[in-house]
Amino acid sequence: MTELEERDRKSGVDQRGTELCQACGLCCDGTFFTFTSFSDLENEDGQTMEGGKSNSQPQPCAYHQCEGGCSIYASRPSVCRTFRCLLLKGVSKEQMTLDAAIEIVSQAKRHRRELETAMKRKASFLKPLPLNTKFHLIYSRGKAPDGECLREHADAFLLYGTLKRLVQRHFVTGDDKKE
Ligand code: SF4
Ligand code: SF4
Repeated sequence: MTELEERDRKSGVDQRGTELCQACGLCCDGTFFTFTSFSDLENEDGQTMEGGKSNSQPQPCAYHQCEGGCSIYASRPSVCRTFRCLLLKGVSKEQMTLDAAIEIVSQAKRHRRELETAMKRKASFLKPLPLNTKFHLIYSRGKAPDGECLREHADAFLLYGTLKRLVQRHFVTGDDKKE
């Protein structure tokens, strides 16, 4: 076992957890977090060293790969190594199978894609932004919609609500942060 695998083992992430997170990446791509707070200075065990500062980076994280997980997974910072969503905890404690967890991830990604498609019809952004920032920029500003536009708004709010419920049920509570 490599030193990095040993670090994962100590924090309770086994092979199934690795597989799940590398198929997911929803806590890195702006689906439910706006920032990741990295530490500037970590020792070889991934702990913050004296003088190390917190460095908040906006999501989507620069290391996130479009359809997968983290491009630096084996050496990801300690904040990422120790963060565990409800789904990952469920798989680690064998309360849920890996296949069932991956199906929930696929469901969440499907809702997210549909919402992204709806949002792209309304506006395009030059730089990647967290999902909720984009959603509020598009739908909570400007004049009240009418006609066809009102239907599109209603559909988008429905999708947003469905995704939010799925996230709260299976991934994170409102108080969780990646820091
Ligand atoms: S949301 Fe959970 S399962 Fe997905 S990458 Fe993050 S910790 Fe892993
Ligand atoms: S470093 Fe990797 S695990 Fe951490 S937020 Fe970025 S993509 Fe996710």
